[in-house]
Amino acid sequence: MYATSYHRASSVEDAVRLHGHSEESKYVSGGMTLIATMKQRLASPSDLVDLRHIGSMKGISVDGRRVTIGAGTPHAEVAASQAIMAVCPALCHLASHIGDPHVRHMGTIGGSVANNDPAADYPSAVLALDATVVTDRRSIPADGFFAGLFETALAEDEIITAIAFDAPDKAGYAKFANPASRYAMTGVFVAKTGGTVRVAVTGAGSDGVFRHAGLEQALQGNWSPDAPGSVMVDPSGLMADMHADAQYRANLVKVMAKRAVMAAG
Ligand SMILES: Cc1cc2nc3c(=O)[nH]c(=O)nc-3n(C[C@H](O)[C@H](O)[C@H](O)COP(=O)(O)OP(=O)(O)OC[C@H]3O[C@@H](n4cnc5c(N)ncnc54)[C@H](O)[C@@H]3O)c2cc1C
Repeated sequence: MYATSYHRASSVEDAVRLHGHSEESKYVSGGMTLIATMKQRLASPSDLVDLRHIGSMKGISVDGRRVTIGAGTPHAEVAASQAIMAVCPALCHLASHIGDPHVRHMGTIGGSVANNDPAADYPSAVLALDATVVTDRRSIPADGFFAGLFETALAEDEIITAIAFDAPDKAGYAKFANPASRYAMTGVFVAKTGGTVRVAVTGAGSDGVFRHAGLEQALQGNWSPDAPGSVMVDPSGLMADMHADAQYRANLVKVMAKRAVMAAG
């Protein structure tokens, strides 16, 4: 056993102040990843600062095509949001396929993006949608946020307060889910705005989520489910584990890209 002190933060400022009490503090949102990690003794924070009761970090607003999702918003709320459905249904689809109902009601978009699990779904959407990660002290463009496996641009005590993006003209997400956990063995999010296409891949990269330049070029030239078929996906740099080798994942990237474009229409 080890001792952990629990603190319930009432505001973002309060949370940062509480976090500063110890060098071994951790924020907790849904706890879906962190609590499991603590149970396995892979993390043993001295202090847990609970962000779940901070009202300003919750909720969804859609203003025209500008979407802002509070970091403390659970996946189930994103999945069910009629406002997001009207401008970016692909994100509702993505959220509705995360884990199981328990995970979707407890886990939050901020926790998922901060955690940057290489098989998580949201990082691919954040990257493909060219979203902004809003924190208590700055706005970080998606291209500069994800920094490798479980690594991000966040400072130790920095809090994600919201994720914001302009809804694209078209977007789609397809994942090949691990049958046990529902995490992505490969997931591809495509987004098209005017003549620009962004394609982000999760679950496959040995360094976490990444954009695929070849798929982006192909789809910019020909927005069609057939376009990914002619793209070379290099298996070096892709994950190989007990579930699938790198060659298999390289094929999944193309297949999921095709399905994502079909879903986007
Ligand atoms: C059985 C199971 C199946 C799952 N399946 C999937 C799946 O299919 N797809 C998928 O994408 N995910 C899946 N997950 C993960 C799930 O989506 C989690 O909700 C998510 O990874 C973490 O969110 P959380 O709110 O629970 O974060 P927590 O566990 O509370 O925190 C995770 C990390 O983020 C930090 N953190 C939390 N909030 C913030 C914030 N606002 N600012 C800064 N740092 C913060 C914490 O300090 C911690 O280091 C699954 C989880 C489980 C248990």
